[in-house]
Amino acid sequence: MDLNITNEAVTDHIRGLYTPIDSDMAEFRKEAVEAGVPVIMEETEMLINTIMIILRPHNILEIGTALGYSACFMSKALEGDVKITTIEKNYESFMKANDNVAQQKCSESIDLICDDAVHALKQLRDGGRMYDFVFIDAAKSHYRSFWDEVVKMVHRGSVILCDNVLMRGTTVIPPEEAEHKHRTNIRNMREFLEYICGLENVQTSVVAAGDGVSISYIK
Ligand code: SAH
Ligand code: MG
Repeated sequence: MDLNITNEAVTDHIRGLYTPIDSDMAEFRKEAVEAGVPVIMEETEMLINTIMIILRPHNILEIGTALGYSACFMSKALEGDVKITTIEKNYESFMKANDNVAQQKCSESIDLICDDAVHALKQLRDGGRMYDFVFIDAAKSHYRSFWDEVVKMVHRGSVILCDNVLMRGTTVIPPEEAEHKHRTNIRNMREFLEYICGLENVQTSVVAAGDGVSISYIK
């Protein structure tokens, strides 16, 4: 089963209201989509843009760089006045992201790390790093292990945003009824959402925008 988590017409309507932040990013999005890279959806980008302006984070952590689109977007939304650390495990994507970040003139605000996120997160923590905003957008079945490391590097008032938490609607199906190959992913994501929504010191909203986004405020 592959559901659109929102009404198609509503999604089209919202996307019709989208304006790229600049022409270089419009070109970047087009190239990434053509290359089949799952960049943040337009409506997710709009939501992140608003959160950037409300929160004005100084230190951002991103898990899942891909080609660097979302990192460049957040940098531009904050007019470069931010430090973004972004982690990508795939070497080829990491190399391409390096080029793209330079081409978008975001090199000053973005540090790229090529490593598996859980390993990289432990090192960042050992280095005493703290973040006001964390964007988790990588392997869906590992969100809980990312979360467990990330929560050690946030403070009261930080926000953790996770993308793809509704997995094109597949998470609404009980895992045992889902296609075999998706079962573990579905089970893990459902457990992850239940976990973060049940935490006492965290206020989480699950928003049916794009591919599903959770927004968690650390109290
Ligand atoms: N945030 C990007 C899209 C990320 S796509 C954007 O919107 O522009 C997800 C990326 O996460 C992929 O490039 C994948 O290689 C990476 N990834 C998956 N698991 C990972 C892990 N354990 N550690 C680091 N990166 C990971
Ligand atoms: Mg995503």
